[in-house]
Amino acid sequence: MIPLEEAQAYVLSGCPALDPVTVSLDAAHGLVAAESITSPEAVPPFDNTAMDGFAVRSVDTAAAPCTLEVAGTLAAGMAPSVEVGPGQAIRIMTGAPMPPGADAVIMVELTTLAADGGTVEIAESVPAGNHVRRAGDDLTTGQMVFEAGEVLSAGHLGVLASIGRYEIAAHRRVRVGVASTGDELIDGPEPLAAGQIRDSNRHTLLALVAAEGCEAVDLGLIKDEEGPLTDALTAAAADCDAIITSGGVSMGAFDYVKVVLDKIADMRWMQVAIKPAKPLAFGRIRSTPCFGLPGNPVSSMVSFELFARAGLRQMMGHTEIHRPRLRAIADADMRRRTDGKTHFARVVARIDAEGRYRVAFAGGQGSHQLNAMARANALAVVPDGEGIAADDPVSIILFR
Ligand code: AMP
Ligand code: MG
Repeated sequence: MIPLEEAQAYVLSGCPALDPVTVSLDAAHGLVAAESITSPEAVPPFDNTAMDGFAVRSVDTAAAPCTLEVAGTLAAGMAPSVEVGPGQAIRIMTGAPMPPGADAVIMVELTTLAADGGTVEIAESVPAGNHVRRAGDDLTTGQMVFEAGEVLSAGHLGVLASIGRYEIAAHRRVRVGVASTGDELIDGPEPLAAGQIRDSNRHTLLALVAAEGCEAVDLGLIKDEEGPLTDALTAAAADCDAIITSGGVSMGAFDYVKVVLDKIADMRWMQVAIKPAKPLAFGRIRSTPCFGLPGNPVSSMVSFELFARAGLRQMMGHTEIHRPRLRAIADADMRRRTDGKTHFARVVARIDAEGRYRVAFAGGQGSHQLNAMARANALAVVPDGEGIAADDPVSIILFR
């Protein structure tokens, strides 16, 4: 067995970041920027009002309550044409540019417009700059907006639009083919014949791949024979940036995945010191990374979480590859036996009244008990040894 970190490092060494491409703004959500962005213009582009009200000369309000002459109206989108002279005010709507002469805005709630609209009563005095948003308050011309490596959030897309950038160089979504193999598997609602089970891994893995922002490609259920496997995996390696298979990587006989992958890829067959998900195969078909995950449904998910997810994130240019490990408290004993492996228990983590995570088993801990994994929102990392006692700290990987 090899340590988890060694297996992870090996996988990551075979998953270099893909070359950046230019993507349109609305296709860039979640991608990693491959260029640094500086602002070519100021945001906001001009001084404007943060409130509906009246643009005034602050000195004119010093003796409030007072009455000012209404010299015009400015809505958002209008260019100011009238200057605010002494004793004057201009009706102004949020987002409208500050008219020349005015240095403050008094909000409409503190004013009373005369019935004929010719004058306005000002209830309170306002200081210079009151409710004025200055040009460049958000971004100045030439300011660094963000650096290459930033993960583009919804807010980032808005910022890019605000400076007129509708395309950006980014690391594209990895196109990931997902295949299942195994003669016992069927895909569909028909009654099971003796010895058959339904293929669940492929559906789980396609969803996990998509959740990472990758493009998931369903390669289907491939017949466990040398010819079909060779053809399907070779074609997938040409079409996809990465391939994920499940099943056929453990010690059992009769699996052609192993035979085929050994012929068409430089696979390394690993036994990782973890439970579940001990067997792992990783290699490259030509240059396409290929993750051979174990077939047991929980194992394939844990293996995806610990290895494939990290590799795919690195290919998409992420620098935070692994999820952070958080500190939690065990609700009850999490006993185990010494076996040289780190155990990843499927747990439900919730935040208690003190704001700490507490964890409890999500259900049965067998690697075939997918229902417990589905209910879990975290993996508790139980180091080799006797386990963790109730109320003791345990580190968790919160995945949902
Ligand atoms: P293997 O890794 O091929 O030795 O398979 C280990 C266990 O996982 C066996 O019980 C398989 O039947 C099961 N298994 C393999 N592939 C899948 C799949 N796609 N969906 C559900 N179970 C699977
Ligand atoms: Mg099998």
